[in-house]
Amino acid sequence: LAARTGHPEDTVVSVGKARIGQDFCLIAGPCAVESSEQVTSIARQVSAAGAQLLRGGAFKPRTSPYTFGGLGAEGLELLCRAGRETGLPVVSEITDPRQLSLFREVDVLQVGARNMQNFELLRELGRQEKPVLLKRSFGATVTELLQAAEYILAGGNERVILCERGIRTFETDSRATLDVAGIAALKEQSHLPVLADPSHAAGRRGLVAPLALAAAAAGADGLMIEVHDRPEEALSDGRQALTCGEFARLARRVQALTALL
Ligand code: PEP
Ligand code: MN
Repeated sequence: LAARTGHPEDTVVSVGKARIGQDFCLIAGPCAVESSEQVTSIARQVSAAGAQLLRGGAFKPRTSPYTFGGLGAEGLELLCRAGRETGLPVVSEITDPRQLSLFREVDVLQVGARNMQNFELLRELGRQEKPVLLKRSFGATVTELLQAAEYILAGGNERVILCERGIRTFETDSRATLDVAGIAALKEQSHLPVLADPSHAAGRRGLVAPLALAAAAAGADGLMIEVHDRPEEALSDGRQALTCGEFARLARRVQALTALL
């Protein structure tokens, strides 16, 4: 169902004013929702810079259990409020089907890299009507990502958006290696929209813009970027967060580049 064979036209997932898979789409926001002030301030600034969707984690699957795990239900509420105030649809990561009722006002359900093969979660999201943003595991092949998407599609939910976020290689200079070839391969093999998340691949601020531009040039349908109003005070992933000003500059460069493609 995910394959391009027999499905030559691109799937377009509409969320708010965004037509993901048709028009280049920018999703921006903090790694984690930390407070009302934080998420509202970031939402206003990324919206002004041209983001079409607001991201923010509330249930954070952190590698260490001793780091900030998100505000949970309260985080979702703050995110949705900031989204309503700015007119931006919101994206947040769901880690367990039992959280679904808390996600009532969330527009796009994100499956994180660590849950790409959580098949019970995928099956449940296949029964939902909301779009699912499925991130590639750092240890999965392109084929395995498409097979994971198949679980959602097979349940009847056709609104699946794929996202490349970097894979594990021998290179440790960046946090993960953005698989630019994988972006082009996914576009070749599937009709589903393909986004790129340069933030989690980069792991540090300086690499985010070059990777974002490379992903756009390779044919990505959009980008998901972590932005913080005070990165040095961020409770998670501060090192890779762009400031609101840096995001605005990147958005202009990406728009100029995609106009040429
Ligand atoms: C995220 O986007 O918040 C995230 C945790 O990313 P990933 O699942 O790709 O690590
Ligand atoms: Mn993050």
